Amino acid sequence: MTFEQIYRDMTARLGDEAAAFCWYFFDRSPVCVRRDGGEAPPDTVKKYGECMERVLSGEPMQYIFGYAPFYDLKILCEPGVLIPRYDTEVLVEEAIKTLPPGSVFADICCGTGCIAAAVLKHRPDTTAVCADISGAALRLTRQNLQNNFLDGRASVIAFDVFGDWNVLPKVDAILCNPPYINEADMKKLPENVRREPAEALYGGVDGLDFYRRIISASAGIFKGAPHIIFEIGYDQGKALPLLSPYPCKIKKDLSGNDRICIIRG
Ligand code: GLN
Repeated sequence: MTFEQIYRDMTARLGDEAAAFCWYFFDRSPVCVRRDGGEAPPDTVKKYGECMERVLSGEPMQYIFGYAPFYDLKILCEPGVLIPRYDTEVLVEEAIKTLPPGSVFADICCGTGCIAAAVLKHRPDTTAVCADISGAALRLTRQNLQNNFLDGRASVIAFDVFGDWNVLPKVDAILCNPPYINEADMKKLPENVRREPAEALYGGVDGLDFYRRIISASAGIFKGAPHIIFEIGYDQGKALPLLSPYPCKIKKDLSGNDRICIIRG
């Protein structure tokens, strides 16, 4: 199989996704692969075929290749832990801009640790507590912090949002991308999202269980006034202000959808 044929195969089979696949697999764009010309080595062709089959079966590329680009980091990913989304970078940006100097923040439901890692990297004055109920998530978070030389500024703890909040230290702010998909939408998830853990996606019948709980249970955790930055679903911008006893601001992601909710007491 020539590189030219690989180029045509990728673009025909994956359409818009071909560029992402190509970067993961070849570490360059489809046009660069075509330019390579000539016969591809047999082991490359074999591996290409295997990875392509997995993608076509609905397996997320981030699980196949083991990482996701996020903000300006490469975040390790594995099945069982939610894949970082570009939409979440808006939350990171807001935190980098608005956390008070020297803040301690909690990344609740930290998953891969992508939020904490990106914020710690760009705000060297801050420290973090990363918390999640999933052992796989806590392991990945530790690795992602270590790989970016940030582990000295973060603790990582097992934590159930619906359990005991006394295990957390006092913080200045909470950053949180909780599970927020409602029951009806869980039934309509695309195949690749179904490969991700339901416990990281499902937010209860109306999708708002984690917000209700975190807003009420966090009352005693702040050193000063409450300060929470949540990621929310594109259709939850009206619901969040109704749940919060404090002023609440909604901001959009790059696609123009409501995406984060900033609560400040
Ligand atoms: N944004 C994710 C999705 O739509 C959901 C992430 C979450 O529930 N926190 O697949």
